[in-house]
Amino acid sequence: MSNSIPVTSPLLPPLEEFMPFLEEIWASKRLTNGGPFHEQLEAALAEHLGVEHVCLFSNGTLALVTALQALRVTGEVITTPYSFVATAHSLLWNSLKPVFVDIDPLTNNLDPKRIEEAITPATTAILPVHCYGIPCDVDAIQKIADTYGLKVIYDAAHAFGVQHNGTSVLNHGDLSVLSFHATKVFNTFEGGAIICHDRKTKQRIDYLKNFGFADEVTIMAPGINGKMNEIQAAFGMLQLRHIDAALQARKRLFDGYAEALADVPGITLLEQPAGVDWNYAYCPVFIEASRFGVSRDEMYNRYRARDVLVRRYFYPLITEFPMYRSLPSSDAAKLTHAHLISSRVLCLPIYPDLTDEQQDSIIDILLSARGA
Ligand SMILES: *Cc1c(COP(=O)(O)O)cnc(C)c1O
Repeated sequence: MSNSIPVTSPLLPPLEEFMPFLEEIWASKRLTNGGPFHEQLEAALAEHLGVEHVCLFSNGTLALVTALQALRVTGEVITTPYSFVATAHSLLWNSLKPVFVDIDPLTNNLDPKRIEEAITPATTAILPVHCYGIPCDVDAIQKIADTYGLKVIYDAAHAFGVQHNGTSVLNHGDLSVLSFHATKVFNTFEGGAIICHDRKTKQRIDYLKNFGFADEVTIMAPGINGKMNEIQAAFGMLQLRHIDAALQARKRLFDGYAEALADVPGITLLEQPAGVDWNYAYCPVFIEASRFGVSRDEMYNRYRARDVLVRRYFYPLITEFPMYRSLPSSDAAKLTHAHLISSRVLCLPIYPDLTDEQQDSIIDILLSARGA
């Protein structure tokens, strides 16, 4: 058995709690194609999240690819270089051209002040990310979208359950996309969803995720197979019973890190903006080598040497990867904030099962490295 501490660990309720769900699936012989657990989970998530419509998917990336299809996005799409690579890959899978715009260094999200200068006659949409679950400047982004007639699709893979001024952050934009991957706050092993605001859009997305079938003999569009199966959906129903306790545990851990690291020169923690009910999805710290005394990469190596599997989310930037780096908007000179943040970030372990002793040792490794 390895004693290593991962950066994240899945929320796995006791196995015996899952058995009755499995027995129900076996008895019904409904394994997929919008079975009872799929229906239950869509309704339960809409209620839990405070959104109008939920379309479940087999994973978040297929949900992103399908969201762009659903809105018939064409040409160029403005997006962020500071994200998981699937954000931009979803554009290439739709033969769309990503146009990268720098981030706001306070929120780590697409900087609305830099969007307008990136708009061309070919621009049809904006694909921002609520990075670490911190909401984008949704009002500024919507204002630009309205002015230029652009669609807005939020990659909300980190933003499960995040509320902003008392309402779900998922209610902004035309569509929002969630991921229920094992590493996320809420998981269905693999899984995802598109959040939309009206029944017609939900209908279109539901056709698209099932090959385009409207009925046995009618194909509405060249759809894909993005359906969530009954085992995934049942596991989602079980997760929902445990999600509040998991979020409380995450908050306690984040507050513990914040308290221990608040006044360390050269270490900056994630800022929680006013009015945001956050989900504590990640615990990034930003290490300024000249003030802390040790570089981010040296810290990364020290943790690894102690079997603490910290991660550099997000390094490298998406714009550094071979399929993106030759795009004009990938020019590092125009993405100075993204590059700076990417060179400083280190995500510390945060998940409900992390013990206080483990957290103390993680904090100790950082504090004892000071000035080394
Ligand atoms: C996890 C993630 C995705 C992809 O979701 P999957 O469910 O793993 O396909 C997309 N975007 C971001 C920002 C993510 O963190």
